[in-house]
Amino acid sequence: MVEGIQSPAQVTYWLMSGRTLFLLLNLLGLACFFYIAGRRILPLTRGERDWRFDQPFVRLERVLQFWLGQWKHPRYRTAGTMHILFFAGFLILATQAFSLLILGVSPNFVLPGSSGGVGHIYDIVKDYAATIVFLCMIVAAIRRIVFKPARYEVPARYGKGHLVDAVFLLALIALLMASESLFEASGAAFQVHQGQPAEFLAVLSLPWVLKGVLVASPLSTLQTVHLSSYFVDVLTFYFLLCYRPFGIQFHVETSLFNVYFAKLDRGTVKPVRWGVSDEHLDQVNSFGVKTFEDFTWKHMLDFYSCADCGRCSDQCPANAVGRPLSPRFLTIKARDYTFQHYPMFGRAGNGTPLISPGGIYSEDEIWSCTTCGACEEECPLLIQYIDKIVDLRRGMIDDGNVPQSLQKPLKALESRGNPYGKMEKKRAEWTKAKDFSQTCAVKTADAKSNADMLYFVDSITSYDDRMQSIGRATARILDAAGVNFGILGAAEKDSGHEARRFGEEMLFMALRDHNVDAIKASGVQRIVTADPHAYNALKHDYKDVPPVEHISQVICREVKSGNLKLDPVENADNVYVYHDPCYLGRHNQVYDDPREVLDAIPGLKRVEMDRCRDRSFCCGGGGLMLFYEPKEDQRMGVKRVQMAAEAGANVIVTACPFCMANIEDAIKVAGMEGKMTAIDLAELVDQQLVRPAPAELEHDKLRSEVLA
Ligand code: SF4
Ligand code: SF4
Repeated sequence: MVEGIQSPAQVTYWLMSGRTLFLLLNLLGLACFFYIAGRRILPLTRGERDWRFDQPFVRLERVLQFWLGQWKHPRYRTAGTMHILFFAGFLILATQAFSLLILGVSPNFVLPGSSGGVGHIYDIVKDYAATIVFLCMIVAAIRRIVFKPARYEVPARYGKGHLVDAVFLLALIALLMASESLFEASGAAFQVHQGQPAEFLAVLSLPWVLKGVLVASPLSTLQTVHLSSYFVDVLTFYFLLCYRPFGIQFHVETSLFNVYFAKLDRGTVKPVRWGVSDEHLDQVNSFGVKTFEDFTWKHMLDFYSCADCGRCSDQCPANAVGRPLSPRFLTIKARDYTFQHYPMFGRAGNGTPLISPGGIYSEDEIWSCTTCGACEEECPLLIQYIDKIVDLRRGMIDDGNVPQSLQKPLKALESRGNPYGKMEKKRAEWTKAKDFSQTCAVKTADAKSNADMLYFVDSITSYDDRMQSIGRATARILDAAGVNFGILGAAEKDSGHEARRFGEEMLFMALRDHNVDAIKASGVQRIVTADPHAYNALKHDYKDVPPVEHISQVICREVKSGNLKLDPVENADNVYVYHDPCYLGRHNQVYDDPREVLDAIPGLKRVEMDRCRDRSFCCGGGGLMLFYEPKEDQRMGVKRVQMAAEAGANVIVTACPFCMANIEDAIKVAGMEGKMTAIDLAELVDQQLVRPAPAELEHDKLRSEVLA
């Protein structure tokens, strides 16, 4: 407390003592906040169950990394740096804000432990923190008003922009910083005036500058400034506290909890109902999300926690090609829905269907997602989209609301175990190609085969003429590495990966159960696949199956050990670029193995696209997405091929048959045939393999004939 100047608690205002007035203001402010918070929590109590209470130490670690450490913010350098600065400033100033509020009730209050040297250091740090936050608010407002980054824009179909709200909030925070600084500066200036030792203010900080401005003012003015700045500070503090739950700033309160309760695993899909096992799913009356209350409480918390920073949509390939989907607005629309249907006063919630005329989402919007995960990877608050989208699809499927183009493949999956409606017995036809079968014998992995490893082929590689080449390359590589492998052949069905992500949970379960039985019966110890979708399904959606690897991981290991040797590239002028498939990269973090394999090919020149690794741009989606015809301005694959050309490449290497289908198609659509080609990693490695001497080849041929 500054000696000589009257503290806010010691003054009488309108016949009321300062102590009483500020006690009442504090109580009123807190009561309003808790009432508002209670109303905001109400929908969460009506939401579906969601099990987020496991692994507390892992969760705390993530809080330290993503909330306290602001881990994802630097991915957008300017906005991220500013956010880190004002977040740190807020944390530092929280103690100061608390002390100031108590000062109105207790004029001599000093926070325990904040006197002496520690207190002095804190005083300096907090002066600079207030200055930085103040300046950040001004820069952020200028950015929003003048520079208008495209990702903050609100397309007309999503309603009005939030510029006014955002700038108003920035102004309120700046006012809070200014009033706190003014309070301190007027006290210090008063001391200088009285010839007393003045409270130390950090040089060039906002309070220091204001003290310089005020120091020549009369004592009465300083007293008035001191008291009014305190008054403004308290009112702004409580106004902000109670106003934030009505807009994007609510994340200030919810983000800590949102990060703590965030999903821990990757590549998975939430169960239809938490706490209901697969065996009891037939007792569930309704699948998926149809009304707002069908969302889980955590998904509702996501809606509150969105900072509307636009990063998710900025990275979303569906949004980039003009599909009617922008993840940011999936959240904003749901949050607006909550505010509207769970008002501060009166009845709450009416169970309106979310996807219906007058609902907040359209069918196309929900089917447009490729589940690539770019939005989730980017969100600094760890907000999830795929689980929500899959749940909304489950709801539509449950109501028989399936797009026309998907009906046939879904039926074929049910009846034939593949989306093309081809015969089961033709599943291993790709192994019978003449040139191939003479040099590489692929056996059927069953109880008698003694195969160590299962090559899980999946539908597209089994049946699509072009993709069968990836299957044969994979088999030749395994053979060259001396792996004792086999395939399930007619006993294999589609992995069901896409069926699950398209909301067909029961169909997925049937396919999974069939495959699990077949895998167990084969007695294999390991599984390999060249299809990242199958890889993801076997790794995350299946239980009790042997460990699974993607072929790029096997090749990488075998090349490193010297078991596989690679010839130099024939055309040294070619420039290669690797396209990360979403279900290998983002969902399973396999980024390095394919690159290491490419770099192990002598003479191969490799470049990177701007959007690579965890920022890879989806090729257009795999599985059933190949059958869906979304409304879009441009194909994702075409955009991806253009990115490869911009990087200076003329060969795109993929490690996924679906990427291959989309990218080869896109090369044609973009008119880049002859200038750009695509090849699968397995095909390229197969091409470059150092082959055994002709005599050995002959030996292999004989062996294959014997085996056949
Ligand atoms: S998963 Fe991919 S396509 Fe779907 S909303 Fe997220 S970024 Fe967009
Ligand atoms: S969901 Fe995350 S990334 Fe998207 S706008 Fe909200 S906070 Fe930003």
